[in-house]
Amino acid sequence: MPEYGLREPSYFGGSGRSLLGAIPVLLLLAAAGATGYLWFQSTAPAVEVAGGFPRALGPSTPLKVRWTNPHGARRVTVFTEQNGVRNVAFERVEPAVRFAFRPPAAAPGEAAFNIPKTGLAPGKATVIIEVQSNDLRGQTSQISHELPVVLEKPTVTAGAAPVFLRRGGAGVVQFTVGGGWSDAGVRVGKFTFPSWPSKSKPERRLAFFTIPPEVDDETVPLLFSRNAIGDEATAPFPFKVTAVKFRDRTLELGDKLMTKVLDELDSGAQGEAAERFARVNSVMRRANDATLAALAAKSEPARLWDGPFVMLPRGKAEALFADHRTYRYAGKSLNREWHLGIDMASTKNAPVPAGNNGKVVHAGRLGIYGNCVVIDHGLSVLTVYGHMSDLSVKAGDTVKKGQEIGKSGMSGLAGGDHLHLGLMLGSAFVDPVEWSYASWMEKLLAALDQ
Ligand SMILES: [Zn+2]
Repeated sequence: MPEYGLREPSYFGGSGRSLLGAIPVLLLLAAAGATGYLWFQSTAPAVEVAGGFPRALGPSTPLKVRWTNPHGARRVTVFTEQNGVRNVAFERVEPAVRFAFRPPAAAPGEAAFNIPKTGLAPGKATVIIEVQSNDLRGQTSQISHELPVVLEKPTVTAGAAPVFLRRGGAGVVQFTVGGGWSDAGVRVGKFTFPSWPSKSKPERRLAFFTIPPEVDDETVPLLFSRNAIGDEATAPFPFKVTAVKFRDRTLELGDKLMTKVLDELDSGAQGEAAERFARVNSVMRRANDATLAALAAKSEPARLWDGPFVMLPRGKAEALFADHRTYRYAGKSLNREWHLGIDMASTKNAPVPAGNNGKVVHAGRLGIYGNCVVIDHGLSVLTVYGHMSDLSVKAGDTVKKGQEIGKSGMSGLAGGDHLHLGLMLGSAFVDPVEWSYASWMEKLLAALDQ
């Protein structure tokens, strides 16, 4: 403070002036000190959106803003900004308090309101939240986020031609979507299948689907289309499904297999062997299949495969797709599971070929599948190779049809050397055998238009 510096010699230096003359100086000093104190007590508010920003702006979008500042907020303003034009979506103003000593203990503030669609058009808009602290400096904090604007409901329309498929096999459905939509596909019970634009008619979309063996007869496949604010449209579509009689199989587990499986997949766990096996067979199986579905969800949006898939050469089918297996041990039934792939046995440690062109997305342990390679063939199609011994590829590798990816084995939930081959579409397994027939593949590719 310059005043302080100027006057200091006059009253500390014994110039003979009365101390009374220093009072204005002291008052000034006090005022300056108080102002300085209030200045340094001023802080910028912390601002957040409770639960995070929404995924999109709709016709009326709820938002809850929270802020913390020791002296509260003088002004809270929320704008939407699109193409350089700002609209106020919400504002709250409190009387300004600049020169008051208050304990810096204001409770956190909160405002819940709906952002109106005023001034918004489909596209993208930015939500800007500004909060000014109610203290001497009145600093403003700002957070913002760009969001899609969705003002229309989605629509979905099925094609007229029926889709033919076998139960447990793959079908391709064509449909069109409209309105405000961002995601579309097929849902069959708990299973979902993504979609892609058709190459020759981009306004049309295509999706794989299946009627999985574990889905009951009342479950109807539905086309869906939804937008980012949660509106959804659904429509049934015509299809003809050929019934397939799946086999019932009983698997008697001997002590040798029981010990091998528990040592490998459940080592160190407590409890009865039978219970532990049943848990591995159900809980671990579901977790592994969820991992595979997550890999399919990240599949390349283009077809990487070419022509029919190759199988294990000279492989003898030991188990078929959707064998309904009852697992028994020591005279008791443990549990029942669908075998959602085919088992093929050849010689011990037989070279395993990549079923088709694609990208390796997993190469390593995967629970019941043991040493496992997973290849992404694009458009949500994965092949899964289980129970292998050696692996000769790693995640990230590009593979060609027929290229050796490793050797067969008996790792994981397997009692003898064989290859378990699974083919996943979206979040469901289908019978891989039809994918190995040239004529079937030709029809599939014609329907797929990719
Ligand atoms: Zn198998």
